[in-house]
Amino acid sequence: MVAASSRPIAGARPSECPLCDEWYTQLRTQADKEGIDSRQVIAVSLDDFRRHLGEHLEQIALFTIPPNLDAQSISGFNEHNSHMSGNVVGLP
Ligand SMILES: [Zn+2]
Repeated sequence: MVAASSRPIAGARPSECPLCDEWYTQLRTQADKEGIDSRQVIAVSLDDFRRHLGEHLEQIALFTIPPNLDAQSISGFNEHNSHMSGNVVGLP
């Protein structure tokens, strides 16, 4: 009667990921390799689902960061460098 409660499959399906199909494919392949019934793996915990979505969001965030930050640190490094070499060259 309460057999369903023994399986902690209250979660999400990898195939529901709106941003890729790879996760689902990957989990199925892995399950096949390990001889696990793939129907068990097709459901993941909500934590796993959130973490997976988080990885997508992280990639998107990194992709959308303007390159200004890099340019600043690089020009700062160059400035520091030229200042140092300028000092050395400027000595009589
Ligand atoms: Zn995904």
